[in-house]
Amino acid sequence: MIIVLKPEATQAEIDQVIDRIEAAGLKPHVSKGVERTVIGAIGDEAALREIPLAMLPGVDQVLPIMKPFKLVSREFRREDTVVDVRGVGVGGKKIAVIAGPCAVESREMLLATARSVKDAGAVLLRGGAFKPRTSPYSFQGLEEEGLRYLAEARDETGLPVVTEIMDPRDAEILDRYADVIQVGARNMQNFRLLKEVGMLNKPILLKRGLSATIKDLLLSAEYIVSNGNPNVILCERGIRTFETFTRNMIDMAAVPSMKDLSHLPVIVDPSHAAGRWDFIHSISLAALAAGADGLMIEVHPDPENALCDGPQSLMPGRFASLMEDIGKMAVFLGREV
Ligand code: PEP
Ligand code: MN
Repeated sequence: MIIVLKPEATQAEIDQVIDRIEAAGLKPHVSKGVERTVIGAIGDEAALREIPLAMLPGVDQVLPIMKPFKLVSREFRREDTVVDVRGVGVGGKKIAVIAGPCAVESREMLLATARSVKDAGAVLLRGGAFKPRTSPYSFQGLEEEGLRYLAEARDETGLPVVTEIMDPRDAEILDRYADVIQVGARNMQNFRLLKEVGMLNKPILLKRGLSATIKDLLLSAEYIVSNGNPNVILCERGIRTFETFTRNMIDMAAVPSMKDLSHLPVIVDPSHAAGRWDFIHSISLAALAAGADGLMIEVHPDPENALCDGPQSLMPGRFASLMEDIGKMAVFLGREV
């Protein structure tokens, strides 16, 4: 359930509500909004029904949350969450564009790509060091060496870095190097992994699973937030359907759906959705029109020789012209880049 405090509630009154929730064996999650504080009580609500929370001073309303996901729901927090990544906001008025290669392949290619995406206006750099490949014979990533190159690229360009985690045992090393930790589509329902990243103090980019519903994705986000980490960015990257012409089928309606159901920021990855570079431009603009807070785009200086996902990677020049159109789109949408 959620307990909505009155705008003038004092800290002592808020603390009293928290004490009551804890005494009933539930976990309080406090969200301080601009106008008022809201407290989510997670656990067996039956224990709380005995206590008339609504009678406590400072309490305005006590509401049940009807949705299966609670802390990530719009009911829990009406305002949009802006995830702060070293000063870069994801989820606010500004459209956040994340760009970079699918995988970190070498120091030189990463630094060259980082410089070009930064010049074009990207605000975060992506690059996988631990790669979830369908075939065990495909390039699996440079692992820690790749993380070191990402850190170097961040130091040189100032772009915070996004990189993927595949195993809970890598949480410590990823926490050390990454600014945003990505949980990929294949691990969206790896619940041990979700709990592990939920205990980190670091933004998490959670990608929709290949066959996951919107509700599944939001419940996975709930795993992370309920373990203590409120900084989750949701990512639509296409799903599997009977249509196989594109690599995955972009579910554009998922964008307004998730913005309606949840306060978390929503971004779209047109590269993994389309599987081909020549559709990235149109899907990106459509995603912004649908209300996405950002995009994650694969960029590679030499896609033909890429070790991973070359066909769906933009060359730096094409990425720069896409950024120009994103700028125009932002004006139309009343947003900024
Ligand atoms: C990626 O972003 O590199 C990736 C592997 O994406 P997904 O998990 O969406 O397939
Ligand atoms: Mn990829």
